[in-house]
Amino acid sequence: MKRILVTGGAGFLGSNLCKRLIKEGNHVICVDNLYTGRMVNIEELMDNPEFEFINHNIIEPLDIDNLDEIYNLACPASPPHYQKSPTYTTKTCVLGILNMLELATKNNAKIMQFSTSEVYGDPFVHPQVETYRGNVNPIGIRSCYDEGKRVAETLCFDYNREFGTRIKVIRIFNTYGPMMDPKDGRVVSNFIIQALKGEDITIYGDGSQTRSFCYVDDLIEGIVRMMASREDFLGPVNLGNPGEFTIRELAEIVLEMVDTKSKLVCMDLPKDDPTQRKPDITVAGRELNGWAPKISLREGLVPTIEYFKKTI
Ligand code: NAD
Ligand code: UDP
Repeated sequence: MKRILVTGGAGFLGSNLCKRLIKEGNHVICVDNLYTGRMVNIEELMDNPEFEFINHNIIEPLDIDNLDEIYNLACPASPPHYQKSPTYTTKTCVLGILNMLELATKNNAKIMQFSTSEVYGDPFVHPQVETYRGNVNPIGIRSCYDEGKRVAETLCFDYNREFGTRIKVIRIFNTYGPMMDPKDGRVVSNFIIQALKGEDITIYGDGSQTRSFCYVDDLIEGIVRMMASREDFLGPVNLGNPGEFTIRELAEIVLEMVDTKSKLVCMDLPKDDPTQRKPDITVAGRELNGWAPKISLREGLVPTIEYFKKTI
């Protein structure tokens, strides 16, 4: 049995990860300040003696002993949430990973940083390979998140070079599935909820921008394999589903799958919204035992729609 710390464990990905780690027989300590996370996501774990919840803001240091692994997820992830207080977002990314790297180093624990496809910004290289250094605006409305995550990656590699900290860095592409907050504001949750309520489906811009959507179970499998990968494989590694869709195509698929009167409407495109996104997952396939997503967008939307039907 391993003692594992999951920061951001009450959020969408974190709660799915905690459940998987508990199922595999580990002791899980979930640290979350509920900034965007919800207790309902971890309700079923609260009575489990192998699960602990600590309400803590990772901007502040934390001292826990005998840790084997740390998964650092804590950070608001949807644009409306990370833009609500951009300085909070940068502090969470930078001071949060610093505190967690200190903890990992002290415990000689492996630490995984949850980075993002956003480090590629509005990319000129398509699909995105890990060696691409990206096209990020340092002073825009997305920068608190993009640059925060880039500095967090830098700190991981510097702690590894300077102190021998055992790091793993993953770059996650748009992921969806059960446990997403209905008020999250990301495109998959917005479109499904709007369709279920018979409201207009809000396409930002003309809907020609693309994203590649990964179902949460596929992502969690990749995450677990990355933590177990050979010690000298540090990443960064892209984790995502290479199936690429325009936002208009996503809206049409949701309309096809939900019985609704909703119509598509176009709204202003937010500033710095990336025009295209698609992961090259060659490295993940090679290093993570042939890992590749198995669940197509249409397949993954079925349980996601069911989840939102029950939630709203
Ligand atoms: P989420 O908003 O559902 O979860 C984030 C969690 O972190 C929440 O529970 C929140 O309360 C907690 N948190 C925020 N600030 C904190 C702080 N200072 N101290 C302690 N807890 C704090 O988002 P998610 O989709 O589950 O994303 C989890 C991680 O994965 C994030 O780091 C995000 O950047 C990364 N990621 C997610 C996606 C995706 O598509 N879901 C894509 C790329 C990267
Ligand atoms: N988007 C949209 N309608 C919405 C929410 C988002 O058209 O109601 C667009 C958004 O402008 C972006 C894409 O969908 O082009 C993905 O947005 P999301 O916030 O889910 O993720 P990110 O932009 O971080 O990839």
